[in-house]
Amino acid sequence: MKKSHSLSVIIPFYNESANVSMIYGMLREFIDDHIAEFVFVNDGSRDNSVDEVRKLQKKDDRVRLIDFSRNFGKEAALSAGLLECTGDAAIMLDCDGQHPPRLLPKFIEQWEHGAEIVIGRRTSNEKAGLVKTAGSALYHRLLNIIHASQPIEGDTDFRLIDRRVIEAFRDLKDHNRVTRSLINWLGFEKSYVDFEADPRTDGVAGYTFQKLFRLAIDGLTTTSMRPLLFSALIGAVIFGLGVLLGLFMVIEQFLLNDPLSLGFSGTAYLAIFILIMTSLMLIGQGIQGIYLANIYSEARNRPLYVAREITKPKTPAKK
Ligand code: UDP
Ligand code: MG
Repeated sequence: MKKSHSLSVIIPFYNESANVSMIYGMLREFIDDHIAEFVFVNDGSRDNSVDEVRKLQKKDDRVRLIDFSRNFGKEAALSAGLLECTGDAAIMLDCDGQHPPRLLPKFIEQWEHGAEIVIGRRTSNEKAGLVKTAGSALYHRLLNIIHASQPIEGDTDFRLIDRRVIEAFRDLKDHNRVTRSLINWLGFEKSYVDFEADPRTDGVAGYTFQKLFRLAIDGLTTTSMRPLLFSALIGAVIFGLGVLLGLFMVIEQFLLNDPLSLGFSGTAYLAIFILIMTSLMLIGQGIQGIYLANIYSEARNRPLYVAREITKPKTPAKK
């Protein structure tokens, strides 16, 4: 590995007092020479994690702290780190040791070979518990169904991203953000490092079920507009069926004088009428959904395109 570059390591933490110095030690053990700065982001911890970071700051002037005024969530913490960091590339990893620092030399190697985003891909997470594993599998299935772009299996926040990607990331203004899907949206050359998540070294997972649920909903609704169009689709199907059935009833009973002696009652006609009316309402809702989707994408105000590099004009542009 060359040493001509400088890396920022971004570590979001929430109540990790026992883990702060542990993760710092592990990072130093495996990639100390590459690190230009440690960016610890305190996401409103209620314990004394911040003091642990301040202790490190006394020993090592590469240690930086971004101290949130309250808990804004890991997504915001990662974004803050990415906006503040100064390295040629940034590594993001969890504070609890579940993203093993011993693999980071591999990340750096792939980056040096041209990858602009190196993604840690989780192969198994047996210790995560049945509910979480099954939930995560179900979630990915769901993402697959409604997603416009292909989600990555085992995708995590354990990543190295190049300066060019960080610069592009700055232009994203989304508020309900899932950092890793934003980074995926940016494009760029990706490569993968497979890993098995180690058990958390200490403390408890700061992600409550509620937070995870919220993240899942954001992940589903911010990456795809398709759910908005579901009702229109269902409406169209029901409408088609209703019209066909209605035509069949009218023709069979009134034009052909009931050759099959089905004897449709008034209630049957009422049912068809209701079916058709409901489907029209669903279609109307779907049309509203399309307008809503357009408003949403305008309001989100993402950049129109992302360029890896733009050659500057030879003569500086006149003002
Ligand atoms: N975290 C955070 N804010 C939160 C919850 C968690 O910054 O509101 C941090 C946490 O300290 C850890 C990382 O995000 O460094 C992953 O959190 P956790 O281990 O709780 O999640 P899991 O491993 O279950 O994905
Ligand atoms: Mg964890």
